[in-house]
Amino acid sequence: MNPPAFEIVAPAPPTAGAVGGLRTTNDVVRQQNLSSVLSLLHLHGALSRAQLGTATGLNRSTVTGLVMELTELGLVREIPGAASTGRVGRPTLDLEPDQRVAALSVRVEPHAVTVALVGLGGVVHARLRHDTAAPPTPRRFVEIAASSIEVMRADIDRHYRVVGAGLAVPGLVNANGSVLIAPPLKWHRDPVAARLSDELGLTVTAGNDASIGALAESRFGVGRGVSNLLYIGGAMRGIGGGVIIDGTLLRGTSGYAGELGHTVVDPRGRRCACGRSGCLEAEVSYDLLEPLLGRRKLDEDELDVELGVVRDAAVMAEVARQVELLSIALTNFVNAFSPETIVLSGYLGCLLSVSRERLADAVRVQPLGAEGRTIRLERAHLRSRLMLIGPAELAFAELLSNPAGIRG
Ligand SMILES: [Zn+2]
Repeated sequence: MNPPAFEIVAPAPPTAGAVGGLRTTNDVVRQQNLSSVLSLLHLHGALSRAQLGTATGLNRSTVTGLVMELTELGLVREIPGAASTGRVGRPTLDLEPDQRVAALSVRVEPHAVTVALVGLGGVVHARLRHDTAAPPTPRRFVEIAASSIEVMRADIDRHYRVVGAGLAVPGLVNANGSVLIAPPLKWHRDPVAARLSDELGLTVTAGNDASIGALAESRFGVGRGVSNLLYIGGAMRGIGGGVIIDGTLLRGTSGYAGELGHTVVDPRGRRCACGRSGCLEAEVSYDLLEPLLGRRKLDEDELDVELGVVRDAAVMAEVARQVELLSIALTNFVNAFSPETIVLSGYLGCLLSVSRERLADAVRVQPLGAEGRTIRLERAHLRSRLMLIGPAELAFAELLSNPAGIRG
């Protein structure tokens, strides 16, 4: 395997001053090293001690000591090493994150609440989707999430250590997990993470769904190892954005940055849920295509099949119109952010599959100085797992930054 890319380690641990001033420099360095080793195993899966040494720049005995501590904490375990296959003599042992250390992942959408149990390493152990007839209120959402988790309770209690929960919301979410506004859900100013935390008795970290999607794709999907990534899309409806610049998710004031779906592409266009006219989200929408297809409730995979065979002139014209407006937005985004890779997910991923040439032109030919740039345009790889793994990453952040904190 290639040596692990080192730029995607966990968020930097707190400094000595931020943890009470009583800790020595050695304690802080050890915490950083434990964090680096656990993060590498979480993101890359099984690695040998030698590979961990190469990736971290730490010597052999230091790596051995760190691995021993992580093993004692129940965060890492030994498995037969890849290097020992077919060799005579003492087998080597690799390390992998203990997948029984898990987080709850919760996603709320206008028509569904999905709960999943995700282990270290991004392994989805279980998932449960509860469809709703209408967008749930925050209170109703918490009831649904809690009862879904209750279904998994016996299994969780028997086999897993749950370190927290992560929540993805289609709206503006601040650093405390309060929603400022979530138009698809009709939520305004609600402390939803605190509500869910009270109900579950767990720490709940909430964030914007597209930002979470960007994070998951950059760690486990097509954006792995990419420092400058633009993630656009989401589910079949609504367009969110996540912008990763120099390896860091762009947050902006209060964490509200990245609302790329509310970029105006036609000032005389359709009214958007945000109150303006002609936003990308209002113009490039499965809701406008669905009536022309004459079929209800296609998911992403079904729409791929449908668009692959459809020859209806009205459908083709509507797809072409939407692709044209999406192209305008993509060119603007390249000019603004200069990404290495653009990832389109959900409905926009379907449009990419049927209009790759036009959209590639928008990012490779139209932007200023495009001939000197190399930009990859990709469809999200994680597909249905994306929004299960993503929220769990929020919940794992504290553990990855301070593994010894699990002693509690
Ligand atoms: Zn808008």
